[in-house]
Amino acid sequence: MALTGLQIQKLLPGTNCKECGSNTCLAFAMKLAAKKADISGCPSASDEAREALGLANEPPVKTLAFGPDKSILAGGDLVLYRHDKTFVNRTVMAVAVRDTDPEGEIDRTLAGVRDYVLERVGERLTVQMVAVENLSGDPRAFADLAAKAVKAAGRPLILKSESVTALKLAAEAMGGMHGIICAPAPEAAAELLALAKEGDHALAVTGPDLDALAGVAAKLRDQGFMNLLLNFRTHSAAERFQTGTIVRRAAVRDGYKPLGFPFLRFIDAGDVMDETVDALTEITRYGGVTVLPSFDPAQLAALLTLRLNIFTDPQKPIQVEPGVYPIGEPTPASAVFVTTNFSLTYFIVSGEIENCGISAWLVVPECEGMSVLTAWAAGKFSAASISSFIKESGFEGQVKTRTIVIPGYVSGISGELEDSLPGWRVIVGPEEASDLEGFIKTFVAG
Ligand code: SF4
Repeated sequence: MALTGLQIQKLLPGTNCKECGSNTCLAFAMKLAAKKADISGCPSASDEAREALGLANEPPVKTLAFGPDKSILAGGDLVLYRHDKTFVNRTVMAVAVRDTDPEGEIDRTLAGVRDYVLERVGERLTVQMVAVENLSGDPRAFADLAAKAVKAAGRPLILKSESVTALKLAAEAMGGMHGIICAPAPEAAAELLALAKEGDHALAVTGPDLDALAGVAAKLRDQGFMNLLLNFRTHSAAERFQTGTIVRRAAVRDGYKPLGFPFLRFIDAGDVMDETVDALTEITRYGGVTVLPSFDPAQLAALLTLRLNIFTDPQKPIQVEPGVYPIGEPTPASAVFVTTNFSLTYFIVSGEIENCGISAWLVVPECEGMSVLTAWAAGKFSAASISSFIKESGFEGQVKTRTIVIPGYVSGISGELEDSLPGWRVIVGPEEASDLEGFIKTFVAG
């Protein structure tokens, strides 16, 4: 649980020596509570104070890392509701293969996972893990499929089997990949602990009810093993939603450490709409790692797009760096367009210009990541800001073109922009980027 400024003050030396840059220990404590300073700023702080503050600053939900370079992160959440701050690490998306699936289907799934990329606002979104399920009961078939999955898909694995022997055999394929081993029952967790530690894998624990699950997690936690996921069993979407909320409230609001771990969930195979609704419920409500039963690019496109939106910091719009972006291979005589640096706006406008087959310059001034109308209303996309950006960036000297196309929504600034950019002609473009093609054919390319 986060400490208040007054609680932190009691941990500090109380000498008001000012070495931390604050006038008093209380002032420094307030900065620490607001996370605007670090305890290392106080050279006289005791080890106890450092430890207490370190523990208090731990996120209520543990952050786990997977993959060869541990770049795939889950958990780390600080809040129950996205609007309170932001959700931290995106739900990790995985796809399952089973050792009873036909060979051709397995090959198609693994190749699909390996090659799938969805581009959204400049990001490349992929399937991050593969879950290998042992339904055959044959440990050898399971281990062979695990080895094949690592080789063909190049992703860290989630191993799921009812047999500890089979899990141990298949884990050999995961060398260096830092994946997840699913304990089939509470008592299996202790047996699999050494295996998880040895390969630096996470252990997904389960239990017949929440009390049992918390008991298993608490035992492992007490032994110093924190690389845990919670895999709770439920019988309906409503129960799952309710259980997930209870678990996350216990961790975040009440600081109950045994439940402070990311969730792992396997989506049941069935109707594609039901699967999708199940998966999106996970994404919106606390999913840590979510396993889809099959590889379906259309389903993934919907889920990854939703995930991108849910995990965007609501206080910080996604934005591109301000600058002048070349589209195609522009020359000093190419057309010049201007828009804002809100990522979605930038990528839609640049994509539409590119689709027209012309080369152009796209001027993107600093608008704090706002869309055109919002930036204009906030005074961030005005004649003055656009003209000073063009002059200060040196762009004016790079091009011979003296015509600039502004978005139709800000047609009102055209006169003022012409006044502040002597020698330039301002053309009002369409309001919607989707109408750029017709506009370009008529006014630019023609
Ligand atoms: Fe207090 Fe430490 Fe700051 Fe000195 S350096 S004023 S002891 S918090």
